[in-house]
Amino acid sequence: MATPRPSVEAALRVAREFDYPSTQVQRGVDEFLREMSKGLSKTGSTLSQIPTYVNSVPNGTEKGLYLAVDLGGTNFRVCSIELRGDSTFNLTQSKVPIPRDLMVSASYKQLFQFLAKQIEIFLELHHNDHFEATVRRRRLTGTTDQYRQAEIFDLGFTFSFPVHQTSINRGTLIRWTKGFDIPDAVGKDVCLMLQNAIDELRLPVRVAALVNDTVGTLMARSYTSPGKTETLIGAIFGTGTNGAYVEKLKKVTKMATSDGPAPDDSGNMVINTEWGSFDNHLNVLPNTIFDQQLDADSVNPGIQMFEKRVSGMFLGEILRRTILSLVKDPEAKLLQEDGVSIPQSSPLYSLWGIDTSFLSIIEADTSSDLSLTKNALRNHFEVNNASTDDALAIKTIGHAIAKRAARLSAVALSAIILDTKKIDTDETIDVGVDGSLVEFYPKFVEYIREAMREIKEIGEKEKKIRIGIAKDGSGVGAALIALVAHKGN
Ligand code: ADP
Repeated sequence: MATPRPSVEAALRVAREFDYPSTQVQRGVDEFLREMSKGLSKTGSTLSQIPTYVNSVPNGTEKGLYLAVDLGGTNFRVCSIELRGDSTFNLTQSKVPIPRDLMVSASYKQLFQFLAKQIEIFLELHHNDHFEATVRRRRLTGTTDQYRQAEIFDLGFTFSFPVHQTSINRGTLIRWTKGFDIPDAVGKDVCLMLQNAIDELRLPVRVAALVNDTVGTLMARSYTSPGKTETLIGAIFGTGTNGAYVEKLKKVTKMATSDGPAPDDSGNMVINTEWGSFDNHLNVLPNTIFDQQLDADSVNPGIQMFEKRVSGMFLGEILRRTILSLVKDPEAKLLQEDGVSIPQSSPLYSLWGIDTSFLSIIEADTSSDLSLTKNALRNHFEVNNASTDDALAIKTIGHAIAKRAARLSAVALSAIILDTKKIDTDETIDVGVDGSLVEFYPKFVEYIREAMREIKEIGEKEKKIRIGIAKDGSGVGAALIALVAHKGN
């Protein structure tokens, strides 16, 4: 008879807490649909449904050279993009991590001065031929207006936090998410904060468009999508999670009331759902003890509840909490056998100590003795001599946490697809996705699809849905929106 394996059995029990069965997926979709509709009218909703002032999606023929910057979470990216007009582009990029103190204890000026400085470094490095004279002259003379139109780079600013947008390059910050917390920036115009910092350095750069990364993803995917199919949804599964989609303008009734009647309501409007805050009241989201504890220890308890169950910033932390609970459980005996050591300095004991990339590593570990998982436990968490049972227990829970995240992602995507009624037409439904979680977690998209098939209004029609990675989405997308903005001027 096989010996009892307490850690594995305990892990199976914990993993079951992360089950998110079909009935709950269906309830989630129904609730998401209700919140979408509420968010488009003026009554409050957990979905902000923010109009983005982007009315069309590209078809691949767009051309030009643009700058794009992206402040979205872990890194700040600066890039220049040459759109070639044939669904292809050339991208030059630099990426710097955002210093932790600039995310939480700085003033907005310090943060934006840092961002402008990175733009200057990028221009000097990659566009020196074009900019040397301009930058020199600018230092002598002053403002952007003194530059000839051709000398100025139009910049798309991807800023992936909730913003109340009032035009294509105007919008005030509603609140920070994803661990940022700089109170004096809230309520200020994010394009102006960046433009002012750029002007202080006298760079020949005009902030032409404010871009949410999901909208950028949608635009980039639409520019590059196979068969020139217009893309319906852009979605991010990275540090945070969010989605944008193409909505009929006439359904965006709150625009008619807040900004005057829509001039031509026969068209479309890209809507940024801000789905990370879906169901802050916890009507339908799963809510294990681990979710509750994570929320209580976060910088924004009680909000972004969907994001806290889905995105890269949180999945590793949920796993860490489950592991610790089983380490402390005398019956589960996880990582407690003779010879196993976990020093007090192990990141397992620190908040945010497990990065979500660890979940990808263990999911991909198909070795019979789970040696990749054991190596990762040793290399990342200083855990020596973990047994195969320990590794299996951790893998089992990690899998359950990520699968639940994928199934929740299916709720959001499916609700939008159903809302647009495209599922009952002959058209292919194209969805562009971006972010390390969806790109690197094995089978994340497959788990999304599996859940979609379980939704009664989708079922076998799931085959009509095409989900593709929008590579470099935020950069190319921001360039495309800067282009749209420029044309509109
Ligand atoms: P951002 O969203 O900050 O622009 P990313 O798309 O790279 O950047 O997402 C970063 C998030 O993705 C982090 O929370 C990180 O934990 C997670 N992540 C990084 N690598 C992986 C991976 N291989 N598998 C799953 N998640 C990952």
